[in-house]
Amino acid sequence: MKDARKTAVLFMFIGIFAAMTSVMTSVFAMRRHRRHPAPTTWLLSADSVAALDEAATSEGLERMRRSSLPAPPAPNFAALRRFIADQSEGTYIDDVLRDRNGHVARWIERPENPVQVWIQPASSVSDWMPQYPQQIRDAFRAWDAAGLPVRFTFTDDSVGAEVKLRWVDHFKDAAAGRTYWSRDQHGWIFGADIEVALHATSGAPYDARAVRTIALHEIGHLLGLDHTRDETSVMFPRVRVTRLAPADLATAVLLYQLPPGAVTTDTLKKPSP
Ligand SMILES: [Zn+2]
Repeated sequence: MKDARKTAVLFMFIGIFAAMTSVMTSVFAMRRHRRHPAPTTWLLSADSVAALDEAATSEGLERMRRSSLPAPPAPNFAALRRFIADQSEGTYIDDVLRDRNGHVARWIERPENPVQVWIQPASSVSDWMPQYPQQIRDAFRAWDAAGLPVRFTFTDDSVGAEVKLRWVDHFKDAAAGRTYWSRDQHGWIFGADIEVALHATSGAPYDARAVRTIALHEIGHLLGLDHTRDETSVMFPRVRVTRLAPADLATAVLLYQLPPGAVTTDTLKKPSP
């Protein structure tokens, strides 16, 4: 009897310890989330709740390499501040700059020289469908319609491509897509690897519409966009829409009128969630 009571007390302590550890882990995870804003993406549709998660954090997934691309002119912060203030209506440029600590990363203007994109043409990942590469191409075409000074074309050359998109089964951390982009010392983006999951972490397969939506969101990151608090936008961390919103296009257009690198010296603090 005495032993049984001891055991019960021991289990109680183990239980309390486990509960505390779990709370601490959650608090830590929340803090980490705040430092790396770009956590998850979800698609909520009327007939299904498909988890479109991704974790393309601008800090965690960017890679810096030197390049020989030209340096932009030294920023005139006062003029840039006026310009951004004048042009920001209908955009979420403030969200993007806040997430990027006031820095712009984007492709250099190259309207005559589209970015070469390779899409993995087939995959042995279960539930992969032959029509999925077309969903990805459709997503790129949707962004092309924004009229940005950078456009995309598709290549079969997986080695020479500047952007490579591969299929993965699922992400362990509930993400649905990831974009690892490379930028140079000035802030010019010059390449990326994109991964698109075919299943939610639960194992539920995504459908064609989800695949296209994941791609729309990831291409937004590829172009230099970051997350917005506007849930009607495809760059909302948990995507609720299946097409680009006017704000997505307007923000991208404005981003491509800004130089790469620091565009503001303001201290950009995230408001409390
Ligand atoms: Zn994202």
